[in-house]
Amino acid sequence: MGQPCAVVVLRKWLEAYERLKVGRLSLHHLTSTGSGKKTRTRMTQAIEKTGDPSCSTVRRKTQLVMVGNIAVGGGAPIVVQSMTKTDTRDTNVTLSQIERMKNAGCEIVRIAIPDRDAVKALREIRRRSSIPLIADIHFDHRLALACLDEGIDGLRINPGNIGSMADVREVALAAKENSAPIRIGVNSGSLEEDLLQKHNGATPEAMVESALRHIRILEDVGFDQIKVSLKASDVFRTLQAYRILAKEVDYPFHAGITEAGSIVSGTVKSTVGLTLLLCEGLVDTIRVSLTAPPEEEVRVAYLILSNLGLRKRLPNIISCPICGRCEVDLLSILSEIESRLASLKNPIDIAVMGCMVNGPGEAKEADIGVAFGRKAGVIFKKGKLLRKVKMKEIISEFVEEVLSVAGRMEKGESLSREA
Ligand code: SF4
Repeated sequence: MGQPCAVVVLRKWLEAYERLKVGRLSLHHLTSTGSGKKTRTRMTQAIEKTGDPSCSTVRRKTQLVMVGNIAVGGGAPIVVQSMTKTDTRDTNVTLSQIERMKNAGCEIVRIAIPDRDAVKALREIRRRSSIPLIADIHFDHRLALACLDEGIDGLRINPGNIGSMADVREVALAAKENSAPIRIGVNSGSLEEDLLQKHNGATPEAMVESALRHIRILEDVGFDQIKVSLKASDVFRTLQAYRILAKEVDYPFHAGITEAGSIVSGTVKSTVGLTLLLCEGLVDTIRVSLTAPPEEEVRVAYLILSNLGLRKRLPNIISCPICGRCEVDLLSILSEIESRLASLKNPIDIAVMGCMVNGPGEAKEADIGVAFGRKAGVIFKKGKLLRKVKMKEIISEFVEEVLSVAGRMEKGESLSREA
């Protein structure tokens, strides 16, 4: 039941956020941290100018960086990525996880390369993966060079811990030759000792100084295909660090709240943090980090983007909170319907409601919906009753109906004619 719970939590938070936006309380009340005034003003100006607090109106201008065939930054749609959780040396298990991530909507996959055996496995993984791969490497620049030889699409390294300046230069030149970008990934948990001393801890300023230090190392060797991430495990340090760095560089930002937690607490924390970052236009690619399968991370990332109107891909599931009128186990039913529709990619509003008395009316704006009684349920479109179906057949019939409606929407057919 983990997944439905997380989705319900996410939806509730986004509904609350929508109410804040509509009430024009907006981000002032969520981000009263002193600096960042400029970006909040930009947001407010955009709302006042357009009447639409759409996040896309205030996107930060960044350089375009290509990761394989996927564009990051430069105004390209915000890219969803995640990281495999398998032992990279186990080629088949890793490939099968990559396939599941791709089916959930993942566009770039990062994989850990801890040693030479992982590099060997990478050859086959790269050959069979249909989406770009980024190698995550620490400490040993020779692993980075070996991954570039295997045709990796990008690297995630910290130039400061990968070797000497000569080693960094060698990696940067090889990356340039292979058109592979490098992401500098600053993490509040592994900042340089001198910066911790100077800033009195892992402050946003310390994170930014670390990022700039690594950026300058790459720039000094003539490398500019750079992405940057500044991850802390709490929302406001992360937000503040991105705000400060945004004033210094125009490299695309990879954003996420690191070590966010379990599927429920991590989903909430990631949603809060990413929503704030997205609405300040600070994000070019996102990763949601959860102690959960990576497909769930991808689903949550897409739901955040889709609810903020930044990517239209996943269906929007509307479900009622359940009250004393409900006579079925709606949690299990919702879970079953969500799992049967997991591969659906159309932006369709689907309602799953707990009673026939109020359900169709409460969800009348949904493209298609179902509401349950004790022995039967009704399927409705745009609030109008389509038919009554016996309980044992209703889930299958409803899923079929959703797929058929989604197919017709894809062809541009109107649904109102049939209702
Ligand atoms: Fe209650 Fe029915 Fe509304 Fe669900 S749809 S909250 S069961 S009245």
